[in-house]
Amino acid sequence: MTIKNDNERANLLEAGKRLAAVLAALKKKVAPGVSTEDLDDFAEQMIRDGGDEPCFLGYTPEGAQRPYPATLCVSINDEVVHGIPNESPKILKEGDIVGLDLGLKHNGVIVDAAITVPVGEVDEATKNLLKVTERSLAAGIAKAIPGNHIGDIANAIQKEIESAGFKVVKELGGHGVGDLVHEEPFIPNFGRPGEGEVLEEGMVLALEPISTAGKASVVLAPDGYTYRTKDGSRSAHFEHTILIEKNGARIITA
Ligand code: MG
Repeated sequence: MTIKNDNERANLLEAGKRLAAVLAALKKKVAPGVSTEDLDDFAEQMIRDGGDEPCFLGYTPEGAQRPYPATLCVSINDEVVHGIPNESPKILKEGDIVGLDLGLKHNGVIVDAAITVPVGEVDEATKNLLKVTERSLAAGIAKAIPGNHIGDIANAIQKEIESAGFKVVKELGGHGVGDLVHEEPFIPNFGRPGEGEVLEEGMVLALEPISTAGKASVVLAPDGYTYRTKDGSRSAHFEHTILIEKNGARIITA
């Protein structure tokens, strides 16, 4: 989506505020003993109570064999992204990390964001994985200014993650958003500065670094959605929808 007027901009900002509120409420609910299905039910209810629509539920991404069956993606530990919370629900345990990825449609505008949250106390290495991955998102956002290229964002994310000794998942990345859940351009989390499409004022993008503590390889589970690390190492994922403005990016889902 490209924002062309104040009305579109206002809708986008409101959508982002609502999504951020749902994610913040979900974060508070994360605790040992909570089931992934409870989190999904809660997210769907809160979105509908606000008069909005979940936009992952029933959505069939390119290449998928069936529609996604839930509101929320819940990915635990070595699950990288797109974990299904409500088909064989899992119970969160102390020391786990859980990725919560959510899309919402408000007044026709779609926004997308994700956080990875510790369940109770986690070990130092895991804390560092979360910290570095969140920081890489900030580094990518800092490069999202008019005249820069997609590669500037991609490279900033990659540098932040790899300089800390972690790996970037290459198969997955960010994307345009707003009218649809996934739009052009694809935004890899690795690349070279100056490569790829030029960023322009008004572009709405979802940036989403996805890192691993071990090797970068991922495998798709038989459910057709859940990606896991091949070596069983932990993975983290943070995502914001941003709007490119004249002087830099505005985070819509903060
Ligand atoms: Mg996304």
